[in-house]
Amino acid sequence: MSPAGVHGLRGRWVEWMRPSVRKVGAVQVATGVLAVGALFTGVSWPWWALAFLGYFFYACVGHSVGYHRYFAHRSFRAPRWAEVLFTVAGTLGCVGSPVGWVQMHRRHHLYSDREGDPYTAHRYPHPTPRALLMGGYGSEPGSARALRRMFRADPLQVFVMRYYFGIVAVFAGGLLLVDWRLFLFGWAVPVAWTLWMAGLDAWATHRHGYRNHDTPDGSRNLWWCSLLSWGEGWHNNHHANPRAWSYRERWWEWDPGAAVVWAILRLSGRGGRRDPASGGTPAAVMARGPGQA
Ligand SMILES: [Zn+2]
Ligand SMILES: [Zn+2]
Repeated sequence: MSPAGVHGLRGRWVEWMRPSVRKVGAVQVATGVLAVGALFTGVSWPWWALAFLGYFFYACVGHSVGYHRYFAHRSFRAPRWAEVLFTVAGTLGCVGSPVGWVQMHRRHHLYSDREGDPYTAHRYPHPTPRALLMGGYGSEPGSARALRRMFRADPLQVFVMRYYFGIVAVFAGGLLLVDWRLFLFGWAVPVAWTLWMAGLDAWATHRHGYRNHDTPDGSRNLWWCSLLSWGEGWHNNHHANPRAWSYRERWWEWDPGAAVVWAILRLSGRGGRRDPASGGTPAAVMARGPGQA
């Protein structure tokens, strides 16, 4: 192969590995098909228990606690080991790179339910597959500038941004080489639950449920969504107080993600008291950088 050909091939690989919402959407569809197929495999219950554990790791530790409460809102101070754990869980769970996800989510708070909001509730009145597909969020992957501003060019985040889908492919492919059931129930099924639930959650909690706060957006609290998404369904509480790491305000608003934050704070010797509802305007949320809890 000519040097130009080698260069072109390398360029394609570099491009292929980069995170993007379209590719996340493709993974969402592919794992969704595999998750339906998994229902017909007839495997014993420990494999389903593994899928549930995987769902806890990718969706709760990665997506809800790590990407949302920590990276996007900086609602608590986490030690370095927890930052690494959040990044690994969210990356392998295929929800996107922390940089891209944070940019997208902060835009959601800034433009909730109007032009510029990457989420779909204001565009789709019904929960069609398109409304729930994260690939339709129309947001570009995190930029190098955002990487510097939000993460101070943290080498771990630079690595994840550069090799995102390479990391996912090595992990999922490695599981497949060991045992197809490990691939299916340790990755594909829980990743499908994580991505479809994230899409459903982002749509439904701006459409259905009750409100504790008269916020300017259409956010709502939806109990069944919270049950399925580790507390993320108490979304009106979250929009009213985006810097609180616990979404619970009334006694029945059960928030498992907050229990994980509490455990991390206890383990790291930072106490486990509930964050006072400190509020924070969307503009302040957008401007927040690393360590500015
Ligand atoms: Zn948020
Ligand atoms: Zn929202």
